[in-house]
Amino acid sequence: MSFHTAVDVIRTKRDGDVLSNDAISWMLDAYNRGEVAEEQMSSLLMAIFFNGLTPGELGTWTDRMIASGERLDLSGLSRPTVDKHSTGGVGDKISLILAPLVAACGAAVPQLSGRGLGHTGGTLDKLESIPGWRAFLTNDEVRQQLEEVGAVICAAGQGLAPVDRKLYSLRDVTGTVESIPLISSSIMSKKIAEGTQALVLDVKVGRGAFIKSHDQALELATTMVGLGLGHGVATVAQLTSMDAPLGRAVGNALEVTESVEVLQGRGPADVRELTLALASIMLGLVGIDADPAAKLDDGSAYAVYRRMIQAQGGDPDATLPTAARRSVINAPHEGVVESIDALLVGVVAWRLGAGRARKEDPVSAAAGVVCLVREGDVIERGQPLFELHADDDAHLQVGEASLTDALVIGEEKVNNRPLLMERITR
Ligand code: URA
Repeated sequence: MSFHTAVDVIRTKRDGDVLSNDAISWMLDAYNRGEVAEEQMSSLLMAIFFNGLTPGELGTWTDRMIASGERLDLSGLSRPTVDKHSTGGVGDKISLILAPLVAACGAAVPQLSGRGLGHTGGTLDKLESIPGWRAFLTNDEVRQQLEEVGAVICAAGQGLAPVDRKLYSLRDVTGTVESIPLISSSIMSKKIAEGTQALVLDVKVGRGAFIKSHDQALELATTMVGLGLGHGVATVAQLTSMDAPLGRAVGNALEVTESVEVLQGRGPADVRELTLALASIMLGLVGIDADPAAKLDDGSAYAVYRRMIQAQGGDPDATLPTAARRSVINAPHEGVVESIDALLVGVVAWRLGAGRARKEDPVSAAAGVVCLVREGDVIERGQPLFELHADDDAHLQVGEASLTDALVIGEEKVNNRPLLMERITR
């Protein structure tokens, strides 16, 4: 490796020039060892924010992030491995249904997940509302459960792409989160290190998503698919609308209950539609010819779900926590539901106690919002629109104050963006 200094690397990117592989590797490795100062990495991140990374630079940047930690070896399993990543949405409980469903069809699904931050919920927070369920597994336990049950949803170990944790914390406080190469390398380094053979990316776009613009979502999806394919992971992205919440329930235990309904062949149509679409892509990627709808309807997916929860100490028959305080918001007048704002519903669920503002905050298992109407519904004056769940009156009042604006009542049905948009295969 040639001699580099952090200042030279920063200047190169600041001036819009291309960084050598060597310079990128040196900078990330030195930062990981604590030899590049936080303010120097901040400057480089800001230069990347403005000037981007070429595909070659991005490939090397991602490689070094992967190499900063361990890479799980899932190659010895008897089933093909395929995972899903969602860029995060409101009411997005798809993983809870999809992982056991795809396992019921014959694949192994290693869903190494995170917790929620801000208005989007986290899969681990949802599952932790099930008494006894534990999120932390060793790598050996992950492999064993994949072999025996076919699906694991657990906390991503600290050993996967550890430099991402340092970079992410720095991006969070330096205004450099919203950069497509930085988001792509952050997500994909962890997914590639996890050792999955195939991956579907659910890239959310709309009011309740991290990315609001369709063009940006498309660019993010294309970049991530390119990174996956470049690292030998069969990757497809599906753009999906996150204008309205997915399903009716938003909140941890409330979403587990709704997921079980879908696993029993019932539940909201949009949750079922998206789950089945993603399952078909995943099965196609690993060459399994199965009918996921039949596996939902005949109870096989639910049977795998129960085994997956039990394998991690949870009791699938346990009563889930329920809210001590509830209230209902009624329609101020009649009309047609034109839109339900996923962002506002997500923020209210968060304020009710379902989400956290800082990484270390606890979450309430029971708090959340149930949407009692859907876009396009004809409603009467006084009809219940939302049910709010909280652990105490103080939280309930904070939620009530902001939820009325989340729903627009008009005169006739409007054509909103479809749930399933482009699929990017590259
Ligand atoms: N999720 C991640 O893991 N990283 C990002 O940069 C954004 C979302």
